[in-house]
Amino acid sequence: MLTRRHFIATGAAALVAAPAIIRAQTKWSANPFSLGIASGDPAPDGFVLWTRLAPNPVEAHGGMDPDTMPVAWEVAADEGFAAIVARGETPARPELAHSVHVEVAGLQPDRPYFYRFTAGGERSGVGRARTLPLLTATPRQLRFGMAGCQDYQSGYFTAYRHMAEEDLAFIFHYGDYIYEYGPDTGTPRQHSSPLISSLDDYRRRHAQYKTDPDLQRAHAAHPFFMTLDDHEVRNDWAGDWDDDDGPPPPEVFRLRRQSAFQAWYEHMPVRRAQFPNGPSMQLYRGARYGNLARFDFLDTRQYRTNQPCGDGYKTACPEVTSARAHMIDAEEEAWLNRNLTRRDARWNVVAQQVMMMSIDRSETPNRSAKVLNLDSWAGYEVQRRRLLARMRGLDNVVVLTGDEHSNYAGLLHDRDRPVAVEFVGTSVTSDGDGEEMPTWGPAFIANNPQLKFLNNRRGYLTCDVTPGEWRSNFMVLDKVSTPDGSLSKRATFVVERGRPDMREA
Ligand code: FE
Ligand code: CA
Repeated sequence: MLTRRHFIATGAAALVAAPAIIRAQTKWSANPFSLGIASGDPAPDGFVLWTRLAPNPVEAHGGMDPDTMPVAWEVAADEGFAAIVARGETPARPELAHSVHVEVAGLQPDRPYFYRFTAGGERSGVGRARTLPLLTATPRQLRFGMAGCQDYQSGYFTAYRHMAEEDLAFIFHYGDYIYEYGPDTGTPRQHSSPLISSLDDYRRRHAQYKTDPDLQRAHAAHPFFMTLDDHEVRNDWAGDWDDDDGPPPPEVFRLRRQSAFQAWYEHMPVRRAQFPNGPSMQLYRGARYGNLARFDFLDTRQYRTNQPCGDGYKTACPEVTSARAHMIDAEEEAWLNRNLTRRDARWNVVAQQVMMMSIDRSETPNRSAKVLNLDSWAGYEVQRRRLLARMRGLDNVVVLTGDEHSNYAGLLHDRDRPVAVEFVGTSVTSDGDGEEMPTWGPAFIANNPQLKFLNNRRGYLTCDVTPGEWRSNFMVLDKVSTPDGSLSKRATFVVERGRPDMREA
């Protein structure tokens, strides 16, 4: 019986070594699996398998001819592929940048599987994916990870190298998988192209990120539930609106969104249900881990009204309390409300992008007026309050969030009473090394009694969930500006089911 650690070691080595050995017998001049392999959206009976053929990843078409090429895939119960349980062939088409998305079904629940691809006589490395328990199962324990905000230029994806070695059922990604900007100077790494806007630009940017070996390791080790935030398209976009710095007309912005969405789909292990329809994609969706936890993955960008008061960090203008302003549209809100009240799981997890707590961003204590992040839920106060009122009495809601590039833990209130907890994950790299306590940290803590934790290091979260208790572990790196940052568990916060409160372990 091979251990998990053994798999990680050989799996990662296979990604690098196997193609070189086999290439002499194939048509390829370079490894066609240079962007790695991935799995996603696990279910009790299967998951999505992904790869993209790209022997020269940052060239046009990834270095591929504009023909369709068959890609064979195999799923096995064992790492050595002695017991193959599913196999097939799927076309890698030029229209989709020679990406493939295989929806594997008919597998057993709650167990690991191994997968690999073959194309043109060359074989990929080996990935591992795990099915979810049956909906009727009563799991005693779940451990999953959460990460996002991975500006390539800001540093190294060391967090992913460590996530690959964690024992996780899956990883929830809260978005900012790529950043759209042109190259910076003086950063640890540089983007290889200027500000991106066309389909080809977005494809090359995704390809540059996907060449990162630590990111490839994490994808090969765990299935991901992918969502997106703003930088997959454009900073602070909202619905049909680009950011507010001289925005193009909506019909023009939708063309950029269409290109960004297509490239996103081509590079993510997501299901056919997420296939883009022009400038639209069905991104919000749910999953359930037996009766232990229901996950609702939100889309907080595509249907929102434009940020109030011209966006940014400001004191509230009347638009903040407009009844027309919304972060999610009526359909998504109704879907979320239905799921929150199903009572078919011990925990309700709202896995989303931007902070739900409305915290005061004043950088001095004794401030005169509250300063809001208008791109967060704080800018959409009527819907925020409506949602929190819905959570009252459930006493099992955990909100998971990204975007802030800092770690936070805190309480969400309906009027004067806490009704849910929120854990905000930092960034994998965005904003660079950071520090334990930023200069603005003490004022944030003084001005916001609902905040229980604040930290400005990079890293990721792991969450340990049992029927009665939730534990969020803040894993931090001392630096990301060099590839040798060291990891530590900075804090663990514990939530008891039935009590929307938390304590540090
Ligand atoms: Fe970000
Ligand atoms: Ca963001």
